[in-house]
Amino acid sequence: MNFEELRRTLVRTLELEGIVRSPLVKEALLNVPREEFVPPHLREYAYQDSPLPIGYGQTISAPHMVAIMTEELRVQPGNRVLEVGTGSGYQAAVLAYIASRSPRGHVVTIERIPQLAVFAKQNLEHAGLYHYVTLLVGDGSVGAPSYGPFDRIIVTAAAPKIPRALVEQLKPGGRMVIPVGSRWSQVLAVVTKSEDGSIRTEYGTPCVFVPLIGREGWKHNII
Ligand code: SAM
Repeated sequence: MNFEELRRTLVRTLELEGIVRSPLVKEALLNVPREEFVPPHLREYAYQDSPLPIGYGQTISAPHMVAIMTEELRVQPGNRVLEVGTGSGYQAAVLAYIASRSPRGHVVTIERIPQLAVFAKQNLEHAGLYHYVTLLVGDGSVGAPSYGPFDRIIVTAAAPKIPRALVEQLKPGGRMVIPVGSRWSQVLAVVTKSEDGSIRTEYGTPCVFVPLIGREGWKHNII
C-alpha cells in the first residue's frame, strides 16, 4: 500500500473540510506515519478517518479529532507539553513533531495501561520521535507535577470535570484541551490561564472519548 499517498489525500481532505488550518499541524500530519501506530492487522485502515481499536478496550482517535485537538491546543515549537492518555502514541508523536522544531520542546505523556505504554514506545521509536517524548505509566488525571509546569496540556480521554491538578500544572499563558461531559458524550473544553493566573474555559466541539479513569476522572471502567 502507498501509505504516503493515502496520508496526503487524508490531510488534503481535512484541509478542504476546514479542520486542518495551520501549516504546523498540516506538516505534522503529513510527516507522522499513522500506519506505525495501529495494530499490524489494521494497517490498511490507517488512513480511514475513524478511530481504530488498539486493544484493552481502547482506541487510537480518528484523524479529524487529532487534527481538531492539535489545532485547538495551538502547540508551538519549543513548548513543554503534557498528554494524558498515550494510547498508541500517535497524538504524542504529532505533538512531539511540532514541539521539537525548537530545542527545548518536549512531550510528557502518561498512560494507565502498562501494555499500551509498551506498544506506544515501540511505535514512537519506529516513527523516530521517541527521543522527544517522556512516557510515564500511571494515573494522568492528577498530571505529572514533577515534570511540569506545562505550556500545553491535552487530555485524550473523557473527564467528568476539569481536573484541578491539571489546571494547576499549566504555566501562565498556558492552554489545555480536554473532553468533558458524561461517559457517552462530551464536548471539548479549552482552558486558558492568563499571565495573571486567571482561568477562562470555553466549550466547543462535541466528541466521544473512552473514559479517563483515575483520582480526578471516573472511578471505574465499565466498558
Ligand atoms: N492519544 C491516544 C492515541 O493517540 O492513540 C488515544 C487515547 S485513547 C482514546 C485514551 C487513552 O487514555 C487510553 O489508552 C486509556 O487507557 C488512557 N487513560 C484513561 N484514563 C487514564 C488515566 N487516568 N491516566 C492515563 N491514561 C489514561
